Amino acid sequence: MYKIAVIPGDGIGKEVMEATLNILEALDIEFKYEFGDAGDECYEKTGEALPQDTIDIVKNADACLFGAAGETAADVIVRLRQEMDLFANLRPVKSYPGTNALFDDLDFMIVRENTEGMYIGDEDYIEDKSGNITGATAKRVITEEASKRICDYAFKYAKKNERKKVTGVHKANVLKKTDGLFKKVFYEVAKNYENEGIESEDFYVDATAMYLLTRPQSFEVIVTTNLFGDILSDEGAGLVGGLGLIPSANIGENRGLFEPVHGSAPDIAGKGLANPVAMILSAVMMLEYLGEKEAAVKIDRAVLKVLSEGKIVTGDLGGNSSTMEMSEAIKNRIN
Ligand code: ATP
Repeated sequence: MYKIAVIPGDGIGKEVMEATLNILEALDIEFKYEFGDAGDECYEKTGEALPQDTIDIVKNADACLFGAAGETAADVIVRLRQEMDLFANLRPVKSYPGTNALFDDLDFMIVRENTEGMYIGDEDYIEDKSGNITGATAKRVITEEASKRICDYAFKYAKKNERKKVTGVHKANVLKKTDGLFKKVFYEVAKNYENEGIESEDFYVDATAMYLLTRPQSFEVIVTTNLFGDILSDEGAGLVGGLGLIPSANIGENRGLFEPVHGSAPDIAGKGLANPVAMILSAVMMLEYLGEKEAAVKIDRAVLKVLSEGKIVTGDLGGNSSTMEMSEAIKNRIN
């Protein structure tokens, strides 16, 4: 039995969460759900976007499924990542049939460092003698410890998932100290996996942005710092088409939080129009994290079937089925 924290949140978060829990019912695994409130609606009701009760529920669970938060996203999801030290952000770049994917043969993982780099929020204004703002600075922090932790995670992921290569991405020619350190640590970690048959290579981030378009099939696992990972993973999402399809995982030492890449989509919320696949595939990532590989594969295959049949799909994929109709169709193809 697994204890799962469930935070549906705002807008379509609620709908795609319902669609996902419906599918998990079809598995031979017992889940105990603990529901937590968070997001805009929660803020309006209670004055807090992320109440302590919800944080406690997440901390006491084996894993967390998170739907979406609207305007308060930074106060909710960014805070949850910090509170629980979810240092690795995983974004798969995987082509599914029947979608607007630019490439139909991609299957790699982007592992992004989630705790430092450009996103520590240490910014300052530069003022002239009269106090006029004439510029601004942002500090970028790269530590040996966090770099080692994320690189090691990427190589472990490669090993566990039978990937043969890890690509380290940086800009060490310009950011000599920060990314110089990241690159050095990357190769130190890589050495420990040489005997496991996992290759390593490194590229500058600008070259990687181009290779993602010119030869994305050459990647297996990419590991990089916070800001570069943020940008490259959206580029990756673009390669395989459609916000409604892309899941993500936030992983800490003994914790995992799984969420679709899309937000609360207020424009389509409450109408049953949302594509549930991104949330469902986030649950697939959760199952993999929990070691329930077989169940993960079952759901993934069912999603693949429904997408390739292309009949019972939501509007964003050219169909006219509702969120729950698509969920039912996937559920029916699980066993
Ligand atoms: P938020 O402020 O919560 O980030 P947003 O609308 O700015 O919301 P997204 O929720 O990511 O950002 O949505 C961007 C657009 O993509 C929306 O117009 C929405 O219609 C579309 N979209 C996002 N997710 C889905 C989905 N699951 N199914 C169908 N369309 C989606």
